[in-house]
Amino acid sequence: MIIKDMKGIEILDSRGNPTIEIDITIKSKKTVTARGIAPSGASRGEYEAWELRDGGRRYLGKGVLKAVNNVKLILKHTKNKKFTQKTFDEKLCNIAGPNKKKIGGNTTTAASLAFLNASAKLKGKWVYEYLGGKVLPVPFMNIINGGRHAGNRLAIQEFLIVPFGAKTFKQAVQWNSEIYHTLGKYLVDIYGPTAKNVGDEGGYAPPMENTEQALSAIYWAIEELGYNGKVGMAIDAAASEFYDKMYNIDGASMTPPELLEYYEQLIAEYPIVSIEDPFEQNDYRMFSELRKTFSNTNVQIIADDLTVTNLSRVKRAIDEGSMDTLLLKVNQIGTVYEAYEAFKYCLSHGVRTMISHRSGETEDTTIADLAVGLETGQIKSGAPARGERTAKYNQLLRIEERLGKKAKYAGKDFRKYGRKIRMFER
Ligand code: PEP
Ligand code: MG
Repeated sequence: MIIKDMKGIEILDSRGNPTIEIDITIKSKKTVTARGIAPSGASRGEYEAWELRDGGRRYLGKGVLKAVNNVKLILKHTKNKKFTQKTFDEKLCNIAGPNKKKIGGNTTTAASLAFLNASAKLKGKWVYEYLGGKVLPVPFMNIINGGRHAGNRLAIQEFLIVPFGAKTFKQAVQWNSEIYHTLGKYLVDIYGPTAKNVGDEGGYAPPMENTEQALSAIYWAIEELGYNGKVGMAIDAAASEFYDKMYNIDGASMTPPELLEYYEQLIAEYPIVSIEDPFEQNDYRMFSELRKTFSNTNVQIIADDLTVTNLSRVKRAIDEGSMDTLLLKVNQIGTVYEAYEAFKYCLSHGVRTMISHRSGETEDTTIADLAVGLETGQIKSGAPARGERTAKYNQLLRIEERLGKKAKYAGKDFRKYGRKIRMFER
């Protein structure tokens, strides 16, 4: 594929902050143009790729015109040259320097996603089809928001539902939507009409005081609809956000072992199948303590801020036994190929992957295709509400429909998937 043109523009993300969108034109036998847009996190890991913002007064410092301007620099280095995803992303890394500081991880993310979308388009294929996968992921939907994503007192950032017992992705979406709305009614009854207000990822942001209240409300909605045993629960603690020498959660100040005990208690009480970022982003050891504690259960331990989709941190987390599931976010590392390398390494070390959105999202749906293409078996993209969240779930509904009889929903086997592909190496 030969790069012919690249254009950047400053647009808005779902929080109303600027972000960068890139249209790339590439040529092989024909010429196509496709798009990539960078998302943006709120509970960003300390070790994520550098996000370039303009500073100053414009957009309260959050403008991305410098990033947009850097697109010209990328074009200067790549125009009329031939690339694969691997060599294009390597070139981006080269131009961007350590931690993507020279041109911004947001710039490289948009460029890299655009290249992937254009490569598929050149072959007349959807991205999932270009990558070759057929497995639809279990949608872990975030239906109560706390932490940095909501203006309430919940320390835990995300409370998710896991419809592993559904037969198809379509049915999983239906169940999750029913649970979401049943929960909404319950919250209004108990906490009043403002309880239905939503947080950054479309989940409700009720005026609750503690974790138990959130878990018990969700469990009530699951039971009310008769989905117990078929729909599990999950949390993303995003614990770095409530850590300050101690963990400040639910009116208490806990040491790491106390917090571990607290998680044990919650898991004994609720059908929790997955915990993400249970401790702060430098504590590989407590992650592995928790993993040991739950080794005889089916609770998966996901690393997000701990590993930031960065191969060197992923290697350490695997060496120390800190996780059994990697949360993969392309913009944490800044290119599709680097994210793929982290995924590939996990796969060959028996560690699974969940593909993830960011709390600041856009209408870009590439992650939905990536989840099917790599057959990760798991995705999280927020609530079954708000356009930037449903954009991904709707794309997965389209993919399932398009695959027809060939489609397979990961369902109860969601812990088993993951698939290496050759497409990026060509
Ligand atoms: C997360 O922590 O998993 C998440 C999606 O939030 P953010 O994008 O704010 O990091
Ligand atoms: Mg997280």
